[in-house]
Amino acid sequence: MKFAITSKGDSNSNGLMHRIKTYLLDFELTYDEEEPDIVVSVGGDGTLLYAFHRYSSRLDKTAFVGVHTGHLGFYADWVPEEIEKLVIAIAKTPFQVVEYPLLEVIIRYRSGGRESNYLALNESTVKGLEATLVMDVEIGGQHFECFRGDGLCVSTPSGSTAYNKALGGAIIHPSFSALQLTEIASINNRVFRTIGSPLLLPKHHTCMLKPVKQTDFYITIDHLTLLHKDVKSIQYRVSDKKIRFARFRPFPFWKRVHDSFISNE
Ligand code: NAD
Repeated sequence: MKFAITSKGDSNSNGLMHRIKTYLLDFELTYDEEEPDIVVSVGGDGTLLYAFHRYSSRLDKTAFVGVHTGHLGFYADWVPEEIEKLVIAIAKTPFQVVEYPLLEVIIRYRSGGRESNYLALNESTVKGLEATLVMDVEIGGQHFECFRGDGLCVSTPSGSTAYNKALGGAIIHPSFSALQLTEIASINNRVFRTIGSPLLLPKHHTCMLKPVKQTDFYITIDHLTLLHKDVKSIQYRVSDKKIRFARFRPFPFWKRVHDSFISNE
């Protein structure tokens, strides 16, 4: 089996990365950064987000596992003290895999019929450059509302515990193939009106954002923020692709939610 390791880059994570690499090589696994069967991410959720984007072109062939060197992460749920156990489990292939849904983002531009495609593991947000964001929101091909405010966030179920949660969105179990649309500080008064509640869309329901006046936006894809100019529309839907996590021991989603947000005692 071929493996790769990504590190957050601090000395603690780098030290752990080297230990894991040595152990796995001792078990006669092959280190292959280009075409790994399994990627061990050492650091935090941000490190796993980075690893996901690094290997997003081979999601059907690569599984991920996360070790955290800071606080308990949603994707990075192994602690450094457990790495001997983890290494032995990895060496004893085949391993079990759990799949989580992803968000597909298609940005179309006004000129030249160009488009950009992205996959998000947590979420994508859209914000204006300076002025209030004004967007027509279409759901399933029908006009739903005209949004005015700071921005909009569209998250995956596993991303529902990240930015989405801070925006008052619901926590969604990753066994649902769904996306969630949440508002970032919408303007609501007698003139302007938005739904105000987070919306949960099932697979095959598309959410399309169409600019009303502005054409340039900051669009985030997980940890990545890019300025997109000349935007005609932004389309969101549940991707046909999924991320695969290697599972070596049970750690139910709701226990992770409890341990992260309530208490881990
Ligand atoms: P980061 O690594 O500092 O992550 C920020 C925090 O989000 C960390 O505590 C991390 O553990 C947590 N996090 C990431 N994914 C999570 C998930 N799926 N469930 C629960 N917690 C999660 O910063 P980064 O590397 O730039 O990470 C980008 C992420 O930060 C974005 O995907 C977004 O979800 C999150 N974010 C959150 C807020 C907010 O809560 N107000 C604002 C902006 C971005």
